[in-house]
Amino acid sequence: MLLFTPGPTPVPENVRKAMSDTTLHHRTPEFEAIFERARELLFKLIPMNEVVMLSSSGTGAMEAAVINLAHKKLLNVNAGKFGERFGKIAKAHGIGSVELKHDWDKPATVEEIVDLIKADAEIDAVAIQISESAGGLRHPVEEIAKAVKAINPNIMIIADGITAVGVERIDASNIDALLAGSQKALMLPPGLSIIGLSDAAIEKIGEGKGYYLNLASEIKNQRKNTTAYTAATTLIIGLVEVLETIEKGDGLGKLYCDTARRAKSTRFALEAIGLHSFPEIPAKSMTTIDDADAGKIRTMLKEQFDVNVAGGQDHLKGKIFRINQMGLIDIHELIWVVNSIELSLAALGRRDFDGTASKVFTQEYFKTILKKEEDK
Ligand SMILES: *Cc1c(COP(=O)(O)O)cnc(C)c1O
Repeated sequence: MLLFTPGPTPVPENVRKAMSDTTLHHRTPEFEAIFERARELLFKLIPMNEVVMLSSSGTGAMEAAVINLAHKKLLNVNAGKFGERFGKIAKAHGIGSVELKHDWDKPATVEEIVDLIKADAEIDAVAIQISESAGGLRHPVEEIAKAVKAINPNIMIIADGITAVGVERIDASNIDALLAGSQKALMLPPGLSIIGLSDAAIEKIGEGKGYYLNLASEIKNQRKNTTAYTAATTLIIGLVEVLETIEKGDGLGKLYCDTARRAKSTRFALEAIGLHSFPEIPAKSMTTIDDADAGKIRTMLKEQFDVNVAGGQDHLKGKIFRINQMGLIDIHELIWVVNSIELSLAALGRRDFDGTASKVFTQEYFKTILKKEEDK
């Protein structure tokens, strides 16, 4: 079965092998050297002043960022399940919160955020997804962060990049906390989360808040290549392998470029067979299609064609399906995915099969090569 869900994503074979060795103790020079290497590689992925790794799924990083950086009131953008989660975390900790709620296909605008900030002087942190995975939406986080900082540089910007870090280049110059998670773009099993931090964030963290998720104690320890509590040793070994694999494969620039090409080619292919891309601004992490037959298509993909894509949650259950674009994806696998979707539409009697999806995908993905051939 081809795993094409936007998290978890497949773990490459060399990474699985790297993680299969005997268990290391985390308080040893041997592991500290691996930890140091992981930090070095992470600073290339997340160009910020500090980076910490937590033994938790992505939500742990969300909670750590909120409790350590929102001291008075959090403004969270809810255009899907993950944005909603930021508000729930604030409530669970008795931190004041204001929510900007949107339909799951509509990105937040700079103006809306600016108006809310200006109207409420208590807001000291803004939390938003770069890529909101619930509907495959891209929020204009960099522009929002810039506008907020121009009004008040003390307002902390928490950017959930769990399906964006490792997918596209992110301008973190106005971001204070940038979150990543292992089982999405980083192609690892679940259980490791990462937070990039600005100097302003480190200052605001001070002594830190919380216990397990106290970022001050993690910063202090991780600068010495160790962790406050037991490190996710196996996953960190895997992380080094993933980041070294990307480096050897012509680097992050190539990965970002390939991902953008794949996402665009997939969308063109599916639009060419009459399907509709759901979000107003699609994230590069996934291709999201809304369709009355979404549930049927998903079942058919699984049962007839060995392809596992994700469905929708809550009110979008059975109404959308989401195809992963994160990680090092074999192009021939993705061509099979779009071909299977066309086959499913044919099986549902919606169109005759003529290979349009795989043709359009190939033409778009290889357009530079095809153009050269034409010019000859
Ligand atoms: C997956 C995801 C998370 C974190 O979820 P976990 O299940 O805790 O790893 C947070 N934000 C976004 C945008 C995600 O896609």
